[in-house]
Amino acid sequence: MEKIIRNGTEIEINNRLPVLPLKDVIIFPYMIFPLLIGRESSLKAIEESLIFDKVIFLIAQKDGTSEDPEKEDLYRVGVVAQILQALKLPNGLIKVLVEGLVRGRISRFLSIEGHLQARIKIIEKSDPVTTKIKAKLRRTASLFKQYVRLNRNLPDELFLSIENNLEYPQRFTDFVAAHIQKGVRIKQHILEMFSMEDQLTELIKLLASEMEILKFEKDLEEKVGNRIQKSQRNLYLQEQMRAIQEELGEEGEFNGEFAFLNEKMTKAKLPEQAAEKASEELEKLRNTPPFSPEATVIRNYLDWLLSVPWHKKTKDNLAIKEASRILDEDHYGLNKPKERILEHLAVLKLSKKMKGPILCFVGPPGVGKTSLGKSVARAMGRNFVRVSLGGIRDEAEIRGHRRTYIGSMPGKIIQYMKKAKSVNPVFLLDEVDKMSMDFRGDPSAALLEVLDPEQNCGFSDHYLEVDYDLSKVLFITTANLQSQIPEPLQDRMEIINLPGYLEHEKLEIAKGFLIPKLLNGHGLKANNLEFGDFAILQIIRTYTREAGVRNLERELATICRKVAKTIVQLAKRKKVIVTRKNIQNYLGIPKYPERLLECDNLIGAAIGLAWTRYGGDILQIEVSLMQGKGDLSLTGKLGDVMKESAKAALSYARTNANKLSINGEFWKTQDIHIHIPEGATPKDGPSAGITIGVALISALSNTPVKRSLAMTGEITLRGNVLGIGGLTEKLLAAQRTGIKTVIIPYENAKELLEIDQRVKKGLKIVKVKKMEEVLKESLVSGERSAPNLKKVI
Ligand code: ADP
Repeated sequence: MEKIIRNGTEIEINNRLPVLPLKDVIIFPYMIFPLLIGRESSLKAIEESLIFDKVIFLIAQKDGTSEDPEKEDLYRVGVVAQILQALKLPNGLIKVLVEGLVRGRISRFLSIEGHLQARIKIIEKSDPVTTKIKAKLRRTASLFKQYVRLNRNLPDELFLSIENNLEYPQRFTDFVAAHIQKGVRIKQHILEMFSMEDQLTELIKLLASEMEILKFEKDLEEKVGNRIQKSQRNLYLQEQMRAIQEELGEEGEFNGEFAFLNEKMTKAKLPEQAAEKASEELEKLRNTPPFSPEATVIRNYLDWLLSVPWHKKTKDNLAIKEASRILDEDHYGLNKPKERILEHLAVLKLSKKMKGPILCFVGPPGVGKTSLGKSVARAMGRNFVRVSLGGIRDEAEIRGHRRTYIGSMPGKIIQYMKKAKSVNPVFLLDEVDKMSMDFRGDPSAALLEVLDPEQNCGFSDHYLEVDYDLSKVLFITTANLQSQIPEPLQDRMEIINLPGYLEHEKLEIAKGFLIPKLLNGHGLKANNLEFGDFAILQIIRTYTREAGVRNLERELATICRKVAKTIVQLAKRKKVIVTRKNIQNYLGIPKYPERLLECDNLIGAAIGLAWTRYGGDILQIEVSLMQGKGDLSLTGKLGDVMKESAKAALSYARTNANKLSINGEFWKTQDIHIHIPEGATPKDGPSAGITIGVALISALSNTPVKRSLAMTGEITLRGNVLGIGGLTEKLLAAQRTGIKTVIIPYENAKELLEIDQRVKKGLKIVKVKKMEEVLKESLVSGERSAPNLKKVI
């Protein structure tokens, strides 16, 4: 009996053990391995071992083919192993799972009936781990890791076991020896080496030479693999090509597609440069595998190149009378813009080739800018396209992306030229004032090239690569605010203002244009639905607040929809008449209930006129004074400029306190609060100065401001009144809200001549240069209350 310790437990090993000869495997200590036992003598040896202590001696045969090995056919050194599991299979074989315990040597065979038995001498060694051994261990570990990585038969999980075993040098050495993929003889040789150092040396040698071989194999495999892949791909493509040709029933390479493209090319009558480019690309396509991404890119490109119009031109209708009739048919009023358009046509008729400025319609939303553009196209008999430039911030959106990736496209100009289908459409560029600029380039610079008559005969799109002639296109642009159009663009444009409509104009537009259009669009007839004039006016006043007619159109559409629904639901054929009384049934409560101007002359409140994106509006400014120590607070939605205006007005009041007969020390004893209550629309602009001044001085001097009076103008510290913008819109707003007197800066007086008489109708317009004049006009002299502050507070 000999004792060994395994995994912390003591195992007793008998000196006499049944022997199991193995054909082609060497088991090392600690190695767990499944064996399939079939030989009669082997089955007997297993049985005997199982009866006793489940320990057996495993030894390799010198000749793996021998079925009935004699003692001489076996090596002498083997491994004592424990049977962990044994499973009898139905076919009489036994499957056992063994774990190598320790090396052993057969000292003598014992003669036993039926199977081999031998007396075993255990070889337990524990070499001291010297530095040399440590170095060799490290080298072995690193080589073995590479070996596992390169060798496809070894699983990656082995990496983990390497780390686990490294702590026990002998166990690690046996572990590597067990996994190295070498023949029985070599492995037996290692098993028989008793010094760990020798074993490691041998392993290093073996691993190094194995690595060489593996690397070489891998190289070879890659080379061969690539070659096979390439040839397979070509074969596959050729096969597909053949299949397609068969399908097309044509011989030659893709004659179908090429013939089609060729025909398209001839039809497109490309200019020289483009024709050259097209043939070049066609040739490229011929030499590109038909299903490759490159082929798709080329095909897309050719598609664009051949489908933008190069020659097709529509015939212009230049009969001015007819054009004028069409313009009037589509739009009410707008005399100035219509006149300008007709002049444009006249010049076109005379000169044939026109290099005039680009028209730009400027005005609030819904005043008919876009639809006027469309109407111009109809009047001239041209095709019409419209591009919105709002929010464009990338030059590439105008000029296209270079053709470097799949999915790149031409810019908006070329895209819409394709839609236009002729070289001379009316091209509407909407919202030129809403383009922005960032690091991706300035779109307005690209637009400049589009709109410049000197340059646009050779417009270059990054995608198209060839020059495109835009000189026959009639470009019209639109914007909400002239000041926001990039300067260089403005230089090339002729601005035509469409400031907005008066109430009676809106009524006419609704009756003559919007309602017939809406009835038609909703499948209604004039005998289904009728709007009374007062009803329309009521909608204009209390459901919309706008310079244009877009919301009016929307509200009218709501009524049409509701009426259509009732007709369908109730199969009612009775005519619906919309009147002032029943409007609420359709539109609900008014969005903007009529806001009557306060009837009394108020102290500390004045009405200003503002100019917003949506047209003109009135702006009530209130000032109140409280006992305090001279703090100025401003509330309401105020722009920065308006804050400056407030401060300027305050300084003016302080410096002129004497002249204005107000208490010169007011700023020491009172807090001033300036408020602009109507804060829903962001208002800005330097035009509220005099209004704030009037409200402030009215409060300080305790003098009421005249009612039904509005004003606009900026104030300087010396009391001069400076000019303002958007006079027409402001006068429209004044009229809309029932103002009777309007104070405007003298600087703006000349503009009055150009403003339609009807806009000024019923308004007393006072032109002023100085703040004193404003005060004289606006404050109710004589009604001044005693300067008793307490009364005001
Ligand atoms: P914008 O481009 O100025 O924002 P649109 O051209 O979209 O405005 O006009 C909005 C609607 O108002 C359109 O249906 C248009 O036909 C109509 N419209 C505007 N002005 C007039 C007008 N003077 N006569 C007839 N319809 C008008």
